[in-house]
Amino acid sequence: MNLSTANHQISLNDGTSIPVIGLGTYSDPRPVPGQTYVAVKTAIDEGYRHIDGAYVYHNEHEVGEAIREKIAEGKVKREEIFYCGKLWSTEHVPEMVRPALERTLKALKLDYIDLYIIEMPMGFKPGKEIYPKDENGRIIYHKSNLCATWEVECHPYFTQTKLLKFCQQHDIVIVAYSPLGTCRNPLWVNVSSPPLLKDELLTSLGKKYNKTQAQIALRFSIQRRMVVIPKSFTPERIKENFQIFDFSLTEEEMKDIEALNKNIRFVELLMWNDHPEYPFHDEY
Ligand code: NDP
Repeated sequence: MNLSTANHQISLNDGTSIPVIGLGTYSDPRPVPGQTYVAVKTAIDEGYRHIDGAYVYHNEHEVGEAIREKIAEGKVKREEIFYCGKLWSTEHVPEMVRPALERTLKALKLDYIDLYIIEMPMGFKPGKEIYPKDENGRIIYHKSNLCATWEVECHPYFTQTKLLKFCQQHDIVIVAYSPLGTCRNPLWVNVSSPPLLKDELLTSLGKKYNKTQAQIALRFSIQRRMVVIPKSFTPERIKENFQIFDFSLTEEEMKDIEALNKNIRFVELLMWNDHPEYPFHDEY
């Protein structure tokens, strides 16, 4: 692997490429105004060229503002930035897709985005409300007919070996969300599992390489040829998460980390597990 801070693209089977690390911009709790803007500018200054965002993160306008400012400064060209946006669950109806994408472009004030994905395969009642609820406060589900295109949580506690093998055999690149084990909000995160970043093996490898547990976890994923999109709005951590190109884990260490797999999915979305299209009953 010859990835570096200056050049860390992975080729895609359509001839384009994607930077192997991106800045996640979903924040829990919701970011204060200006926080996303600063984080994205910091990330671009540090060398990140991939930003992962979404309409439903409520901060796309700040992401766009930061990207446009860095372009105006001459720090980057638009074509050097890879932006991934997402279609929310209330807009799965085919006629709603284009207006949703156009709304994202308007918020970003950019002419195009590089990737537009289905945020969750579970449809909610179409309309303007992001979380449409019935009189009992339950989300109103909506049956959509989606193919199983889906992002994949992946980290040392949830290694997805079978899926990774399948994708690599078919020349498909996986983008791993929550590569650091996400935040610890019990409302939507499975906190019965231990925090990934306190893991003993990651800690001891960190000591060996003079790296943090987060850097070891991210390096593990990119050595498996996955793209990672760690979220941080803390400038030192944005920087830290990008410093993963100046060391490599040995084959044995890769195997040891892979053996940490506990099949723990932190983002289980159990509150919607009765949705007819709840994706995590199936094995991937
Ligand atoms: P991550 O695994 O990226 O973890 C983010 C958490 O880790 C934040 O609390 C962050 O805090 C903290 N953190 C970041 N860097 C470090 C570090 N070096 N050391 C210690 N703690 C650190 O989880 P996410 O769930 O946010 O996933 C990443 C991105 O993937 C999202 O932001 C979003 O763009 C995308 N995504 C997420 C989905 C989901 O369901 N969770 C689904 C689809 C996409 P702080 O900011 O304070 O530094």
